[in-house]
Order: sequence, then C-alpha cells, then structure tokens
Amino acid sequence: MKPFIYDYTMEELQEWAVSQGEPAFRGSQIFDWLYVKRVDSFEQMSNLSKALRQKLDDSFSFVLLKEIAKYESSDGTVKFLFGLHDDHGIETVVMKHNYGNSICVTTQVGCRVGCTFCASTLGGLKRNLTAGEIVAQVVQAQRILDARGERVSSIVIMGTGEPFENYDATMNFLRIMIHEKGLNIGQRHITVSTSGIVPSIYKFADEGTQINLAISIHAPNDALRSKLMPVNRRYPFNDVIESLNYYIAKTGRRITFEYALINGVNDRPEHAKELAEVIKGMSMSSHVNLIPVNHVPERKYVRTSRNDIFNFQRVLTDAGINVTIRREQGHDIAAACGQLRAKHMESGTR
Ligand code: SF4
Repeated sequence: MKPFIYDYTMEELQEWAVSQGEPAFRGSQIFDWLYVKRVDSFEQMSNLSKALRQKLDDSFSFVLLKEIAKYESSDGTVKFLFGLHDDHGIETVVMKHNYGNSICVTTQVGCRVGCTFCASTLGGLKRNLTAGEIVAQVVQAQRILDARGERVSSIVIMGTGEPFENYDATMNFLRIMIHEKGLNIGQRHITVSTSGIVPSIYKFADEGTQINLAISIHAPNDALRSKLMPVNRRYPFNDVIESLNYYIAKTGRRITFEYALINGVNDRPEHAKELAEVIKGMSMSSHVNLIPVNHVPERKYVRTSRNDIFNFQRVLTDAGINVTIRREQGHDIAAACGQLRAKHMESGTR
C-alpha cells in the first residue's frame, strides 16, 4: 500500500521533493496545498508540473477518511465515526465553544491501557494510527468548518487511545498541526492527555514545546489508582508524580490533572483531602479538572451526584488547589469516547 501523504511533515516533504530532483520549496508548495488550500487531489496542485503531480500520485495515497456516521448534538457538538482503509472505525469529536471550535482526536484503534471506566479499551488495542490518520481527522473537520467560514482553533488529544504509546506518530501529528505554513494551530491551544506513561512524560518534557499536558490521575493513591487504571501497576503513582515534577521544572508550564468522579469509589471527601496533600507542592503549576464519569453499560460505575461533585471541589479549593468541573457536551449523541465505535462494532464496523 502506498504511504499516506498526510503522514509527512513539511521537512519530510521537502526531502522527498529533493529526492525527486526538484528544489526543496516544491515540498513547501505541497504542504501549502494540503493544509492551507486543503485540496483533495494531487491533480488540483496546479503550480506543480504535471510530471511531479504524477510522481506524487504514484508515490502516495490521498484518500481521506470515510465518514461512516455523523451525529449532531443540540449544543453544536458533532461526533464522527470515520472508517480507515482497513475498515477499522475511529471517533472524532468537534465541539463548538464561544471562543471557537475544538477537536478531540483519536490516536489508536482501541486502547490497551484498560482504564476500568472507559469504553474504548473494551476490545483492546487493534493498532496505532499513523500521524497522517490523526492529521486527516483535523483536515476533514476543517473542510466541513470551511463551509461556515470557521476554523479549528484548538485540539485535544483525548479521543480513543494512549497518545504516549504511539509517541512518534503523535509528535509528527503535532509538528504538522503547529507549522506556521500550515494549519498553524497555536501550541498553547493544544493539549495532550496521557494515562501516565512515565518514560514518554520525560521525553515530552524535553521536546521544548509549548503544548499543554494533561494527566489522567483519577485516584489519590497507588492502591486505588491500580484498581481503576491497570497502567498504574506498570508506572506507579509516585513515579508518575515524579515525572510531572520534572515536566514542570523543565518546561515551566502548568499541568492539568483529570479526575473522573465515580460514585462511592473515588469521590469521597477523604479522597479529595488525600489528593490535595499529594499535589499541593504543585498547586501553582497545576489545576484539577473534575469529570463526572460517563456511564459505560459494560461497567457498574455510577456518576457522582452534583452535590458530591461540589463537595469534592470545595475540599480541594479550601486546600488552595485550582479546580474546574468539566462542562459536558454532546450528551444526547452517543455520549463518551469509545461508545460510538462500540455501538457500531456491534453492527459490523471493526
Ligand atoms: S481512558 Fe484513554 S488511556 Fe484509558 S483506556 Fe480509555 S482510551 Fe485508553
């Protein structure tokens, strides 16, 4: 199979152009056609010679993603189920905010991390996405927004998969997204969320980007976190905290702790106190985002009541921790990540 044109960074396209006996700027022109003019065939790249367009066609595939399903929420959120060339299905969500459109992208087909509150992991990991398959989710969404004169203004890497277990593809995706000659998404408007893959947190800290980091913490101690997130047995709680301290010291950037509240499991005031104790040393460089857990029919978890969410928030706030409660979007359209795909898997899509 031919490689996907969206897999390549600007520099790689320039190298390819040179390898074909062309000047490097031809690579920049191709990048411009892909991300600024957003054409959908090599034929449309009219400032390239016919011979070069033919070489592109011989060397690369240009098929974007197949739209299998699209659900629109009354709040403006749109969820897509896209089909890949090998018939796997992936989810992408576009959310409308008053400050612009944000997109939540998927980095793997399925996930092997096994968080017990997550539908995406139920069938395990099928495969990693290539950088281009992550890029294509944004390009496809942007093409739809083009019709309304709007743009993707922020990206969250919080869809299906653990981006730090698909590190190189995720980094190439980011390089393509932030390139000033392409979609030019501001680095501070991009957030990568990890379940705590410690070696990759160190690596990411050393990348020297301004991209935001969120960590799915979901418990205030090792024992409970291992129950909720088996990945904690591979990368224990204290090692995760240590890597985050390194990240903060190295980058000077704030991190976000994602905490999904599950009724009676991790949402008691004593859990909030314990969490505050653990992260108080980072209180100037972090904030906690509380997420009422989504109902996954296969699991027995029940979401925390509003009252208990506010109580949990209050304990943290009193301890000097910055806390927000995630605003939920798209509730009326097959809910949380992984659920659309799970629903379609039952009906045949892999
Ligand atoms: S929450 Fe994220 S990391 Fe955890 S199983 Fe689901 S997709 Fe994987």
